[in-house]
Amino acid sequence: MTSSDPTVQPVPASVVEQVDAADVTLSNPKRAVISLGSNLGNRLETLQGAVDALEDTPGLRVKAVSPVYETEPWGVAPGSQPSYFNAVVLVKTTLPPDSLLERGHAIEEAFERVRDERWGPRTIDVDILAYQDVVSDDPRLTLPHPRAHERAFVLVPWHDVDPSAEVPGHGPVAELLASVGSQGVQARADLELHLPE
Ligand code: AMP
Repeated sequence: MTSSDPTVQPVPASVVEQVDAADVTLSNPKRAVISLGSNLGNRLETLQGAVDALEDTPGLRVKAVSPVYETEPWGVAPGSQPSYFNAVVLVKTTLPPDSLLERGHAIEEAFERVRDERWGPRTIDVDILAYQDVVSDDPRLTLPHPRAHERAFVLVPWHDVDPSAEVPGHGPVAELLASVGSQGVQARADLELHLPE
């Protein structure tokens, strides 16, 4: 991976300005990184809906939203499912990890995700990539997310929103991205997610 790699986009100035302007009123918030993915219905609208729903969560503020990427589905025959739109969101929250997971599940339910098939198509997938430096092998909430360090569709947008991020126990996102590569992760510069007002 080099800085000239076309799929690694800088965070748009508009996003940085909005982050700077964000009013953080939470007391002693923790930092969490959330991955959003959609490959059914109006994918961009769904991702934006999930960002807005996160911001509507008491005790949570969305701090940064990555550019949108279009990616091939994992674990299925090529062309058998629509491609995904993926993004990564940085949040500050006073919610403990299990409550944040519950909120993610509630957002999935709100968008009527049907859990009928592993790696099946989904309106919205909400994964917690990391919560502070917490490391846990609890299958209900594994932290960091057990596959975050090996997935380009996670590492590319994570690197966009936080170039100095580390995946606890695995090392810097930039180094992981350099070793995994960004094949199959296409920037959709024509699309943009907005930080909620
Ligand atoms: P998925 O189908 O990818 O949404 O994952 C299904 C299950 O993974 C959920 O019911 C979660 O309880 C569990 N899980 C474990 N670790 C995580 C994590 N870091 N983020 C989200 N879900 C997780």
